[in-house]
Amino acid sequence: MERIHYTKRDIEKTLISEAELKQKVRELGARISADYEGKDVVAICILRGCCMFFSDLMKEVDIPVDMEFMAVSSYGRGTVSSGNVSILYDIQTDIKDKHVLIVEDIIDTGITLRQLKKLLGGREPASIEICALLDKAERRETEVDVKYTGFVIPNEFVVGYGLDYNEKYRNYREIGVLKPEIYE
Ligand code: IMP
Ligand code: MG
Repeated sequence: MERIHYTKRDIEKTLISEAELKQKVRELGARISADYEGKDVVAICILRGCCMFFSDLMKEVDIPVDMEFMAVSSYGRGTVSSGNVSILYDIQTDIKDKHVLIVEDIIDTGITLRQLKKLLGGREPASIEICALLDKAERRETEVDVKYTGFVIPNEFVVGYGLDYNEKYRNYREIGVLKPEIYE
């Protein structure tokens, strides 16, 4: 009997295919490599949703880069826009005078990234920019400058390629939308 990836049964439609992801990651990697040539770069993966995107992106960056990891949790989402970000796991390097690139899976309201940028900005890096694979632009509640964006997507809950629903579906190869009954 042929095995079907458990996630595939629960996916209603594919939003971004594996080939499209690969192509976009290649483009972003080339842009980042050109923009940061000769600079001391620290790329920060925001765990856990960004794990797949980050590792694929870093393989497409062909300049020396310090790969760091950070886990944060945000409070007050969708309620007060002054929601605080708390650090669950911090980067292990001093970013003073370095060029920081925050790498995120998705930007939704923008509250998490705005807070994070402020927090890391306080450590006096030479520059600080954001790279987000997905952008739900119409959901934005607070202004955030995202220098590198992969795809602008509609306001639908997506999973796969690192993104989860209740901690599942991160290990799916593509970005898809779940069948409505999964949420019920
Ligand atoms: P925000 O920009 O502060 O609203 O939060 C963004 C975070 O919400 C992301 O890092 C994801 O963890 C999560 N998130 C937002 N939209 C989705 C989605 O469609 N699928 C999975 N996670 C999402
Ligand atoms: Mg996340």
